[in-house]
Amino acid sequence: MAKKTIATPIQKVLLKIRPAWIARVGQELARGMEVRAGFEEQLERFFDLLGQSITTGDPAWMDPILLVWETASTETELEDEPYHVSFLINRMIALTIQVARETLTKQQALDLLAAVIPIYTYGLEVVGRYEMETRVAHISNEMEKVQKRMERVDKSKSAFISVAAHELKTPITLIEGYASMMEDLMQQGKGANLDSLLAGMGTGIDRLRGIVDDMIDVSMIDNDLLQLNFQPMQISQMLSALYIEIEQIVHARKLTVNIKDFVGNREWIYIDAPRITQALRNVLNNAIKYTPDGGAITIDGRTLSGFIEVTIADTGIGISTEDQAMIFEKFGQLGRVDLHSSGKTKFKGGGPGLGLPIARGILEAHGGSIWVQSQGHDEKQHPGSTFHILIPARTESPDPKMTRLFDTLGKNKPKEVIEQDDHMPQLKDPNA
Ligand code: ADP
Repeated sequence: MAKKTIATPIQKVLLKIRPAWIARVGQELARGMEVRAGFEEQLERFFDLLGQSITTGDPAWMDPILLVWETASTETELEDEPYHVSFLINRMIALTIQVARETLTKQQALDLLAAVIPIYTYGLEVVGRYEMETRVAHISNEMEKVQKRMERVDKSKSAFISVAAHELKTPITLIEGYASMMEDLMQQGKGANLDSLLAGMGTGIDRLRGIVDDMIDVSMIDNDLLQLNFQPMQISQMLSALYIEIEQIVHARKLTVNIKDFVGNREWIYIDAPRITQALRNVLNNAIKYTPDGGAITIDGRTLSGFIEVTIADTGIGISTEDQAMIFEKFGQLGRVDLHSSGKTKFKGGGPGLGLPIARGILEAHGGSIWVQSQGHDEKQHPGSTFHILIPARTESPDPKMTRLFDTLGKNKPKEVIEQDDHMPQLKDPNA
């Protein structure tokens, strides 16, 4: 090849160290490059291009191999950077000096180094620039991601303001209406008959308080400030209490609610009962809200290792696969401000979209979880939804003092006694 025809002393020197150089560099650096197949051939190619650059006086001959190495290295290890190409070249310089010292005369070694150092320096410059460019690209990519996240936060903030304003406006309008009716009656001297108006006002105020409380809960969950007060409780008691809350509306909407007497529902477990009840209430209210009149809601469950799973299944409008993950995010229904009517149990009543995120926050704070299964959303066929609620079955409080207290209060009563000692409202057992 061209190298041989225009052979100069430096080419001879290069040929002389070639085998030792390839063996030494290969042996020393192959460990870091083990995943890269054919490293030795690449070294041969590198060495030949080095010779070519020296012969022509143009170090740009090195560009193709530097580029291949750079691409391979940045694709795989931008973060960990154990074997950056600039590091490889620096090692090669050291190994070239070693090999030169061992195989060449002093003069030949000096001639060789005088010829190869400028090429290596050029190589370092090229890969330095390339590495800088990839780093800059990586950083701007990261910045773009942050920017997008901020845009999403910004959007969700303004969507929050519009939903919050809408949600708050409805009860305020209600209260204003009752207040002005009361004023009229007072002016007409009929102030004695204000009971029903006061009750209406109370409803509006309760609704306002509910929305504000939800907002406070979400912000506590977001900031990891939810404080749990673990005490022993049975799931059956919470479900019975919830049934009393919903009984009237269930009748009014002609819904059938089956609360099954599943294994584990009478186990005493340490939970924050008001918070778990709140999570169950949110899911149950949704089941009522998104099930048409005449539908059915079934609450069942089972024990799993270390957990009790409660399922709340309805025969409602169902949830599309795309929405199934989104509904647990804050303001999962923000896109549809038109739906927000502040109706708590009305069919498809809409709401601020905080119920499920709060339920998830409460369950996750306990070490549990919540998810949904549904065939899809269909307002005619009503495929229904089943929410799965996984509650850790702690037999001890995270606070040992609490466990001791409840132990002395009789948690160690024989099991049968606990089960007979049943003051709670009776569970509906459809099999009974
Ligand atoms: P909202 O206040 O809108 O009810 P949630 O966080 O409780 O907020 O629920 C978010 C959304 O999830 C609801 O708006 C509704 O679209 C959907 N969803 C929740 N539960 C059900 C259900 N049982 N059936 C159908 N859709 C449901």
